[in-house]
Amino acid sequence: MDNQEFDADVVVIGGGMVGALLACALAKPKALKIGVSVQTKPLKIVLVDTERPQPFAADPDPVYDLRVSALSIASRRMLEAVDAWQGIESRRVCRYRDLSVWDGEAQGRTDFHAADIGAAELGYIVENRVIQLALWDQISALAGIECLCPATLESINTDSSGVTLSVAGATQRIVRARLVVGADGSRSAVREQAGIAVNRHRYDQHALVANVTTTLPQQHITWQRFVPTGPQAMLPLCGARASLVWYHNDGEINRLKALDEAAFITELSAAFPTELGDIESVQARASFPITKAHAEHYTAQRTALAGDAAHTVHPLAGQGVNIGLLDAAALAEVVLKAHHAGRDIGATQVLARYERWRRFDNSVMIEALDGIHRAFLPQPMWLRQLRSAGLNVVNRVSPVKRRVMHHAMGLSGDLPQLARL
Ligand SMILES: Cc1cc2nc3c(=O)[nH]c(=O)nc-3n(C[C@H](O)[C@H](O)[C@H](O)COP(=O)(O)OP(=O)(O)OC[C@H]3O[C@@H](n4cnc5c(N)ncnc54)[C@H](O)[C@@H]3O)c2cc1C
Repeated sequence: MDNQEFDADVVVIGGGMVGALLACALAKPKALKIGVSVQTKPLKIVLVDTERPQPFAADPDPVYDLRVSALSIASRRMLEAVDAWQGIESRRVCRYRDLSVWDGEAQGRTDFHAADIGAAELGYIVENRVIQLALWDQISALAGIECLCPATLESINTDSSGVTLSVAGATQRIVRARLVVGADGSRSAVREQAGIAVNRHRYDQHALVANVTTTLPQQHITWQRFVPTGPQAMLPLCGARASLVWYHNDGEINRLKALDEAAFITELSAAFPTELGDIESVQARASFPITKAHAEHYTAQRTALAGDAAHTVHPLAGQGVNIGLLDAAALAEVVLKAHHAGRDIGATQVLARYERWRRFDNSVMIEALDGIHRAFLPQPMWLRQLRSAGLNVVNRVSPVKRRVMHHAMGLSGDLPQLARL
């Protein structure tokens, strides 16, 4: 077997949505409006992934992915800044203008409308594969990125001067760099090899996801009903399609998965409002266990973690990839600023700035989502009434509502430059 050797500045393990955005942002310093001086060489990036995203078979591809994400306005801005948004729009994206949240046990309800805060939309539902493909279009066009795929990380050796990685694929590769980033998902091999511990909690919940067709076209509304067994959401897709996410315990999710189509539709139909239209058919179903996890550190010697490698959140408010993309943008900003100041991009002080910036914000998000999950578990009557009153207060008190909306749109907090443009 041939051996190949690569010298780079940054090696990113994992070209999912987060790793791919990071690679693009590092290779496009102008997107961050960081001055490029004549003396500063552009960074050389190596991106490693075990598999390429499945291409779009036709235009439009008749097969809808089961994995979709609700992208925030901040995420759109970041994808736009690295020129990937156009690749999403040219494939498939569904804007949503309204979000309806109600308590399935009591009278509480909140309706969020983009128009209430003078916005055109609250967010976008996009298939994960579409986001990844649009970023990979940019990656193939950028001279500064070497993409090793299919290839899998085997080992990492770090010392104070650099990092050496062994990567296995059709050929064995040795990559030397100044910094390795683990964007390799919740079971991150980079995190494990760096010896970074994780605090993990497995919820007694699984998420069943399915794509459905409806008799009416979607009205740009995301529906979310909370019941004690977990939320039930219907996210709009293009045309008369929607993506169902239904949380329950393992046994019930297996029962729902095994139902024939007609029986499954009957159970779904009872949960959602008539505005959605009748559910006509259900395509493939799949389920995922629900976990919250947080790495104790985001950095180690010449190593940084981003996205699900650093944290996994309860998906009930669709925040996982949105906060992962913010990690990628913040890390790119910290690294590029250090590079243009002539500093060592893998130095502990440089990486510490990234960890301080992102870890606290992400802890707040993880706990807030956990709090929402707990609030809807079976509760005594007085707590249920309080919860319902809370939803109604948010619905009526404009400043509170605006604040919640800005937060959900990713427009609050210490945003990286890429999300501010
Ligand atoms: C049911 C459900 C619904 C969700 N809905 C939303 C939502 O609406 N909005 C939202 O923001 N988030 C949502 N999320 C969360 C979101 O899907 C994740 O946060 C997101 O996919 C994480 O992206 P990532 O790039 O960090 O990791 P991943 O998507 O896991 O990508 C990791 C990449 O690393 C590669 N890789 C892994 N190991 C190696 C290795 N050893 N060598 C080389 N390559 C490797 C993999 O092939 C992959 O491409 C949801 C999650 C679930 C379970």
